[in-house]
This record gives sequence, C-alpha cells and structure tokens, in this order.
Amino acid sequence: MSATFSDTTPEINIRETDCFINGNWVPSISGKTFSTINPATEEVIAQVAEGDAADVDLAAKAARDAFDSGDWPKMDARDRGRLLYQLADRIEQDIDELAALETLDNGKPISESRYGDLPLVIDCMRYYAGFADKIQGSTVPIRGNYFCYTRREPIGVAGQIIPWNFPMLMTTWKWSPALAAGCTIVMKPAEQTPLTCLRMAQLAKEVGFPDGVINVVPGYGPTAGAAVVKHPLIDKIAFTGEHRTAQIITRDSAETLKRLTFELGGKSPNVIFADADLDAAAMGAYVGLFLNQGQCCCAGSRVFVENRVHDEFLEKLQKLTRDRKVGNPFDPATHQGPQVDQAQFDKIMSYVDKGRAEGATCVTGGHRVGNKGYFVEPTIFDGVQDQMAIATDEIFGPVLSVLTFEDKEDMIRRANNTFYGLAAAVWTRDLSIAHDFARRVRAGTIWVNCYDVFDAAAPFGGFKMSGYGRELGEEGLRAYTENKTVTVAL
Ligand code: NAD
Repeated sequence: MSATFSDTTPEINIRETDCFINGNWVPSISGKTFSTINPATEEVIAQVAEGDAADVDLAAKAARDAFDSGDWPKMDARDRGRLLYQLADRIEQDIDELAALETLDNGKPISESRYGDLPLVIDCMRYYAGFADKIQGSTVPIRGNYFCYTRREPIGVAGQIIPWNFPMLMTTWKWSPALAAGCTIVMKPAEQTPLTCLRMAQLAKEVGFPDGVINVVPGYGPTAGAAVVKHPLIDKIAFTGEHRTAQIITRDSAETLKRLTFELGGKSPNVIFADADLDAAAMGAYVGLFLNQGQCCCAGSRVFVENRVHDEFLEKLQKLTRDRKVGNPFDPATHQGPQVDQAQFDKIMSYVDKGRAEGATCVTGGHRVGNKGYFVEPTIFDGVQDQMAIATDEIFGPVLSVLTFEDKEDMIRRANNTFYGLAAAVWTRDLSIAHDFARRVRAGTIWVNCYDVFDAAAPFGGFKMSGYGRELGEEGLRAYTENKTVTVAL
C-alpha cells in the first residue's frame, strides 16, 4: 500500500451550479447554496444552488407541462431515441473532462471514472436509445366479438433521486429508460456529488432535448428530495440509496400513491469453494469489495471461504490488497481514492473499531491513510463470525470480512441469513454446486466465477430489503410505462 498526495489535480472548469429548470439555469428561489467538497483535499470545489420545495414545485410544473402539453411523449419514438444517441455521442466527445469532474467531486480514481464508469454510461444510453421505438403492447384474445389490445404508455413525470457513489452512472440508469419511454424528469442528485449530473443536463440542452423534459434540482434529501417524493404532479419515484430512506419515501409518497422502484443496499456473500481457481477467486474477492473504495451497493462484503483453502486464499487476497495503491485519485496509477465525505469516513472507521472489539482479526489495513482527505487503508478482517456487526451491516467502505465454512448446506443458509438480497457470487468448477447456489440464494444478481459484471441489457435490483423493481434491461424500461388495455367492439 502506498499513498501519493502530489498535486496532479487538473484545472477543471466548473460551470453548472444552479438548478436546471425548464431549460434554464436558475438560482434557488431562497438564494441559498451549499458547498460541494473535494474528498481528496477537503477543499470546497464550488457553491451549488440549494433547492427546496419551491424549486421542486417549479421543476415539477415544467416537467408536467412538457409531458401534458409538450411534444415529448407524442414525438416519434425514433426521434426520442435519436436525441439519446446524440447525448451519448456528446458525452463520448467530452469523456475526459466528464471523468475528471466525476473524480473531483466523488474522489474515485481517474482510471475508474474514465475507463469504468464513463463507458458504461455511454453504453447504457445507447442501449435505451435503441429501445425507444421498440416499446410494444400486445393483442389479447378475449371472449365475445371484440378486438382487445394493450398499449405501453409513459408513466408521466418521473421523480428520480440518486446517491453519490456512481453519480453519472446512476443519472444514466435513471434518465435513459425514462426518456426512451417518453417520460419527463425531475431529478435530485446527491448533495455530495451534484456536478456531473448538472453538466449532463447542460449537454442534454445542447443536443436539443426540449425544455422541461429534464429538470435537475440539487439540494438535501429531507428538503428537496422529500419535496420530489410528495409533489402531486409527479407520478413515480425511482430511488437509489439506503433502505431507511426508502422507508421514509414509502411513507411520504403514500398520500399521492406514486409508483415506486427502489435500488437499495446489500451485504452480498461471495463464496469460494475449495475446487475454485483460487487466483481468480482472490481477484474476484478483491475487486468485488474494493472497487470504488468499497462504496458499491453490491460489494461482496461477506467472503465465505471453504475451510481447507482458507490459508492459501487469504494469502493471495492479502498480497493483492497490500499492493493496492491508495492516494491522489488523479494519479493514473492510483487504485483507491478517498471515501466520499467525513460522515462515510467516520462510519467506516467506527466499523473497523467494532470489528476489533468483537474479536475479529484485522490482518491487513485498518487505519487512516495520510492526514488530509478521507483515505482509508483497504482492510481485511479474518475470523469473522456471522453475528458480528462487520458481517451484518452495510459498511459501504473498503472493509472485507472473511468467514469460513465446511458444509455447503450450512453455507447457503448463512449466505441467506441477511435482510438484504442484492447480489451474490460463487467460485467453483462444479456446475451442480454453481447452479444449486444460483437457484437457492435469494438475491437479484448471481455471479458465477466472476464479480461486478454489468451490462445495460441485464436487469439489476434486489430481493428482500434491497429494493423492488429492476433497472436496466427491458424490465428497467417497463418500470417507466403504464399498461393500457383497449377493447373495441366489432
Ligand atoms: P441515502 O439514502 O442517504 O441518499 C440517497 C439519496 O436520497 C440522496 O440524493 C439523498 O439526498 C436522498 N434523500 C435522503 N433523505 C431523503 C428523503 N427523506 N426523501 C427523499 N430523498 C432523500 O443513501 P446514500 O448514503 O447517499 O447512498 C448509499 C446507499 O445507496 C447505500 O445503502 C447503497 O447500498 C445504496 N446504493 C444502492 C444501489 C443499487 O443499485 N441497489 C446503487 C448505489 C447505491
């Protein structure tokens, strides 16, 4: 592990810091702003408009008007698709600048934002651009002399609320299917990372999205976010974040009975059988947890290893982890940048303390790196027991728990012993074990001999308290449509 703090932060032009409403950049009505912070230096990057209920009201009216009276839902679907293709092209054109802006605001290494997140953003947008003119209903044989068919229509105004861990990618997962379906949008980005979402709104304006189709109101969750959830002109909420926030959103949206889709947290099991390719499995455990500073909803934070290969596996995993380079996220050689903010840093360090206090052995890492910025050593706990806090709670940081197992049946029971159900992985050469695991582990995504493989075509979402509904794939598109049945007497 090494730390680099030499200042190679590039000059980045910060332009968009206001609310984007009805095609215009406007300050918040209250005139209030909040600071967005560079987590690598703890310095203020910019002051951003602090939207609240009054700004959300303007945005909701603009989105409603664009939906009810504008051309957007009525537009030839191919033209909607063409605009999405153009936005993807525009993002590709500005890829280096956007990656740098993402790294500045979020702290993720430039190698990840430039070569991981941004290509996924562009691919997802193009995937849904191609779907815009393929949203079909069906004909339904019914009794009597009738012709019955269904139409898939856009749900209306979509309220979208996203977290800070993949700001551009989460924006894209929300915007692309909604726009392809013909919905209009009121988005509330995370208060920690508003800058790339705001830049994307400007790029959408430049490529010609009509006014009012995309609106972005930066601000805090309990004010701006709650106002989106409660607004009567908004039809649906698509939310990614913590399950506790989803519970509040469920209560707050009850009055207006909004359609809800939730992508929430996880405590995903990553299971290594003795017959697995242990080099690949160690790499899978390493990437599966440490990617994005451990701030992934699907992080493989519970690594179960079959007893007889525990020592060999752990040695390989520790070697990879010791070589992990933590430091300046703008250094192309950096593997791990800072956590997103002080609150996340404090939460992670408190779990490191709990792990030690509960009797697990910290075999790698476990400390802060440097004294400026929210850097945490990639950390491995061995000897973790199921009931320990580090094995039950979502830490959302670079802290990996190693547990052991002897018996497959017992391991599957333990893997399922969590109220989360977002993802799981198994490493084995035995096909029957792999398929049995895939069938019996209750999670929305199962990876076999791989981890963190994402594709715009593959649905993603949770079982249990990890959420409901799916993003990506055709299901992700359907979540922005209503089904209408038309019956014609013949
Ligand atoms: P969070 O729930 O605190 O915040 C997420 C968003 O909700 C932010 O924009 C926030 O401002 C807003 N918000 C907060 N309170 C609100 C309220 N009362 N009403 C409306 N909006 C409100 O979550 P976080 O800490 O920012 O993000 C981390 C969480 O997100 C983790 O639990 C992680 O697992 C989850 N996550 C899930 C996925 C997935 O696809 N399943 C992806 C990324 C992150």
